Amino acid sequence: MLIGAGIGGLSCALGLQRAGVAVKVYEQAPELGEVGAGLTLSPNGSKALMGLGLERELEELADPPSYQAVHHYRTGRILVRRERGELTLQQYGAPYCQIHRADLHDMLADAVRANDPDCIALGHEFERFTQHSGGVTAWFTNGNSASGRALVGCDGVKSPVRSQMHEQESPKFTRYVAWRGLAPAAKVPAEAVDPPSGTYIGPGHLFVRYLIRGGETVNYVAFVERDDWQVESWSQRSTVREVLDEFSEFHDLVRAIIGATPPELCYKWGLFSRRPLESWSVGRISLLGDAAHPTLPFMGQGAVMAIEDGVVLARCMAESGSVAEAFQRYEAARVERTTLVMLESAEIIHRFFAPDTDRFAERNNRNEESLGLFHYDAWQVPV
Ligand SMILES: Cc1cc2nc3c(=O)[nH]c(=O)nc-3n(C[C@H](O)[C@H](O)[C@H](O)COP(=O)(O)OP(=O)(O)OC[C@H]3O[C@@H](n4cnc5c(N)ncnc54)[C@H](O)[C@@H]3O)c2cc1C
Repeated sequence: MLIGAGIGGLSCALGLQRAGVAVKVYEQAPELGEVGAGLTLSPNGSKALMGLGLERELEELADPPSYQAVHHYRTGRILVRRERGELTLQQYGAPYCQIHRADLHDMLADAVRANDPDCIALGHEFERFTQHSGGVTAWFTNGNSASGRALVGCDGVKSPVRSQMHEQESPKFTRYVAWRGLAPAAKVPAEAVDPPSGTYIGPGHLFVRYLIRGGETVNYVAFVERDDWQVESWSQRSTVREVLDEFSEFHDLVRAIIGATPPELCYKWGLFSRRPLESWSVGRISLLGDAAHPTLPFMGQGAVMAIEDGVVLARCMAESGSVAEAFQRYEAARVERTTLVMLESAEIIHRFFAPDTDRFAERNNRNEESLGLFHYDAWQVPV
């Protein structure tokens, strides 16, 4: 059984269903839904999704940018340009694309429910587990319980499953604060979304924006270094005025996007870091996605890692003789890679935030692509 019907939990459920392994997902929310925000799917993520049978849905709902650019925050000058589109497809066998989180979540949930309409149990907030020789039982706050052969916590960055398994140090505030917003593309100048994926960098500031939903919506995330906001939640409202003030020295095209955000679509949160775990499993319990390796968002790899985990764990469960063997093969395939991504994601921000913005291209020698992350194929990697 899986706890949490987020992107990672649903990817794993679909992988298990396709391998003929019985699975049930318990989700705390009374209804399925995702926060209003975009997500980049690098080729390693879209390849994993294509193997789950979602190629047609991805083509319909995701937007592949022709190229991406890193711009100087004040002048707008392009510091680095990366070709995407056809070139990425040829290089990696899968597209680089941008998608609304809710669209990705819906496509996964629809596919899972098409295989088994009762697979996802909503309104089940996991409270604790107990293990016994033959299996594991999960207890929920609604008074229900469920038993199975194994339990995997796919319950996100604040994972209650992980808290019961491992002694936890408190998460550390990174001093990074982020705003996210969605603006209608029709309300910003055309140059503001050309190319369809752009990043503006300046000392202590980073603004990432890209188009989703067929070019109708501009998704952005704006990061700064600040001490005074320490709420780790994706659903705290902010004001457009606050973002404009914080990015007062940024190019007019950036400020035009921020200024076009409807007030109800502007959110703010503090980023917290946690140390990587050396091992994820205890007996019949394991972890997946942010619950296993909470990753800062600066490389845009968190969801993609959760999807890869889901595919690899499903393969291990299908190919192993016991739960212990499956978890051991899963960790052997995944811990090193996800730890690398956690550590590199925490480092890359220093290169974006450095004072000598003009010299960024010289520093840009370690990123998600140069590290070889895009070549990974969750369906082929040895397990
Ligand atoms: C600003 C920002 C931008 C990002 N951009 C990108 C990007 O461009 N590309 C990318 O790949 N990643 C990105 N990420 C990271 C990505 O969003 C996460 O890594 C991803 O959502 C992790 O998926 P998950 O399934 O592990 O966890 P989640 O998506 O958090 O899902 C966890 C699920 O568990 C449920 N749950 C929690 N507690 C319980 C409980 N007690 N009982 C039952 N259910 C429970 C929750 O309701 C939820 O449905 C970004 C993150 C941030 C913050």
